[in-house]
Amino acid sequence: MSADGFNAGLDMGRSWYAATAAPSPEDPTLAGEVSCDLVIVGAGCTGLAAALFAARQGRSVIVLEGGEVGWGASGRNGGQIIPGLRKGALELVQVLGVERARALFTLALEARHLVVDLVRELEIDCDLRLTGHLLGALKRSQMQDFEDEAACLDTIMNYRHVRILDRLEVRDAVATPEFVGGFVDEMGGHLHPLNYTLGLARACRAAGVQIFTGSPALSLESLGPKGAVVSTPGGRVRAEHAILAGDALLQGLSARVNRRIMPVANYIVATEPLKNPQALIAGDLAVTDSRFVVDYFRLTRDGRLLFGGGERYTPRSPPDIGAFVRPYLERTFPQLAGVPFDHAWGGMVSITLSRLPHIGRDGPVLFAHGYSGQGAILSSLAGKLLAEALDGNAAGLEQFEYVEPPAFPGGRLLSWPLHVLGMAWYALRDRL
Ligand SMILES: Cc1cc2nc3c(=O)[nH]c(=O)nc-3n(C[C@H](O)[C@H](O)[C@H](O)COP(=O)(O)OP(=O)(O)OC[C@H]3O[C@@H](n4cnc5c(N)ncnc54)[C@H](O)[C@@H]3O)c2cc1C
Repeated sequence: MSADGFNAGLDMGRSWYAATAAPSPEDPTLAGEVSCDLVIVGAGCTGLAAALFAARQGRSVIVLEGGEVGWGASGRNGGQIIPGLRKGALELVQVLGVERARALFTLALEARHLVVDLVRELEIDCDLRLTGHLLGALKRSQMQDFEDEAACLDTIMNYRHVRILDRLEVRDAVATPEFVGGFVDEMGGHLHPLNYTLGLARACRAAGVQIFTGSPALSLESLGPKGAVVSTPGGRVRAEHAILAGDALLQGLSARVNRRIMPVANYIVATEPLKNPQALIAGDLAVTDSRFVVDYFRLTRDGRLLFGGGERYTPRSPPDIGAFVRPYLERTFPQLAGVPFDHAWGGMVSITLSRLPHIGRDGPVLFAHGYSGQGAILSSLAGKLLAEALDGNAAGLEQFEYVEPPAFPGGRLLSWPLHVLGMAWYALRDRL
């Protein structure tokens, strides 16, 4: 795999995922003019799930990937399976009312079942662990929020897979002095996201999807009812429909999309294999803390701690990613002070103003992105919903169209500093 390609930035080549990736065939680069029913920009989970389900409907599908399959966010994330959306159930009810909130939440829950079913059906070897997800409270005042969220899940969402941990119970679960309580969702867990994504790509090829790598889409021309044309440096694809699935790395193809997502860099390390990893996290849980700028961590199958923490609101990578993440890791686990890191990398998370994904359509062009840090499984669901909409069943898509996130104020140039200011304020609040 190329180390300096379109989606190879922030040291993806040095990630634990790249080091443990399943073998994958080399796909061709697009050359010349071709036509098909559906052209998809982006070979992450959104694009590949859309491709798979569209191909199963009998459509001819081409996927254009600027870099390597899975080297975007889908193959380099924390691998945390967190059911639901980035906005909690209670907040959804407050913003949308009971009926809409319940419908949206229930739909989002399908993502977890979909991914588990795909892993089993397609026999994807991706270390899937359905061990639960723990959200750790840093302040006692957050425990009331946890109680309220659990009550909302129970009474409004009919979702009864969560339990609250007190100070002693959370210390048994995670060996950090930081947590004063916890909120466990038993339907959560974790997986190897790159191998999951490569597994989806394998299934796509088997279903007849043509994947072109090293083929960045440079322009998109919407022809209304006549379809769309996407051009790359070496060719053009004409199709009845196009799907934009480029998430944080997508630039320039659609003003509507670009105004609604903000890319924020986030960094991860993997320690060397630990002598007694279970002493850090019991029960192999995936763990997130309750900061606005979250720290998240879990164990790998070979006994490492995989820890994500810290965000930077500049496109420049820190000179030493490991050194950048270390204070966050050691704040959570002081007992690991000085532990060697074998891997350190980063990725671009795409955030929306409402923290709800942006999924919708514009004539022949459909799109899905902006999962706001919680897209490891939602992206597969979004891809499936887009394919269903093409097939005449837009019920799921419409749920998300109704909550289209607002554009960031001030256009791309002005919105960036405003957003940075806003995020920096929350980061400061975390610190205080
Ligand atoms: C560091 C990090 C940690 C995260 N941790 C978690 C987590 O633990 N749990 C969770 O739920 N979510 C997490 N997320 C979020 C999650 O990874 C994403 O929401 C999800 O993977 C998005 O999938 P996608 O397919 O839409 O985008 P991507 O996987 O980014 O795929 C988009 C693809 O499109 C390609 N592309 C873009 N523009 C073009 C173009 N013009 N032409 C051709 N190709 C193009 C890119 O190269 C890329 O391969 C994390 C994200 C990051 C970055």
